[in-house]
Amino acid sequence: MKYIIVTGGVMSGLGKGITTASIGRNLKNKGHKVTAIKIDPYINIDAGTMSPFQHGEVYVLKDGGEVDLDLGNYERFLDTELTREHNLTTGKIYESVISKERRGEYLGKTVQIIPHITNEIKDRIRRVAAKSGADICLIEVGGTVGDIESMPFLEAVRQMHREEPKENLAFVHVTLVPMDPQGDQKTKPTQHSVKELRQLGLKPNIIVTRCQEPLLESTVSKISLFCDVAEEAVISAHDADDIYEVPLMMEEEGLTDILMKHLELSSFGSDDAWA
Ligand code: ADP
Repeated sequence: MKYIIVTGGVMSGLGKGITTASIGRNLKNKGHKVTAIKIDPYINIDAGTMSPFQHGEVYVLKDGGEVDLDLGNYERFLDTELTREHNLTTGKIYESVISKERRGEYLGKTVQIIPHITNEIKDRIRRVAAKSGADICLIEVGGTVGDIESMPFLEAVRQMHREEPKENLAFVHVTLVPMDPQGDQKTKPTQHSVKELRQLGLKPNIIVTRCQEPLLESTVSKISLFCDVAEEAVISAHDADDIYEVPLMMEEEGLTDILMKHLELSSFGSDDAWA
């Protein structure tokens, strides 16, 4: 199983969900079977009890699961049907660990975030990915790197990085490149969020930047140098008129090829799948 972990920096609402769904669509076009898991680090079991004013609209899956709208994007972009298991929340993880503790499954041990919570997260990711029958599993970690809530999930994927062969995991980090009043593209927020990620033991293979206009060459070079990723792995996700243009934009920028090279994947499909 190949895993692509999508994290976000700087602020929420940047387009991690659209990036995840677009990557999945493009890999599907290359002939791969792709699935996706959304991690929501809140303590609610699911989105069903949250106010739509706070959370945004709840997306209801065929099995009745009340989840984040990102799962709707995955279903539409990947032309697939997901189940409630594809949405992991802190609430679900803790509920399961606490039930196991009550059943005496930890045999008198002190139950801790590492390894019990992180093991539960890894087990669930691996179980859901295997059950889906896919060969690639995208994992979107909701929230922003540095949030206290997402720490156990980021630690779990760090452990997976240690446990899996190098070519089985790729890290994509989505950040913001704002423009200053003079119209210059600023890379400092991206540098800081990558630094934050590194402090947690994670290093992005690809940086996707949300920006108003396509990234300038000088901006790409600066991000590449400061964040230690190859220039071709700095992807510009500038504002699109329509979100369905985003996968095409990412394909043109070479994101799929870089991922396939890193994950040692071959292409079986038609590159004209969008035609
Ligand atoms: P996140 O998962 O990071 O919270 P989403 O993927 O839900 O973010 O995207 C947030 C909003 O930004 C959505 O309304 C989405 O349609 C929009 N969006 C994402 N990427 C782009 C883009 N490249 N151009 C224009 N709008 C975008």
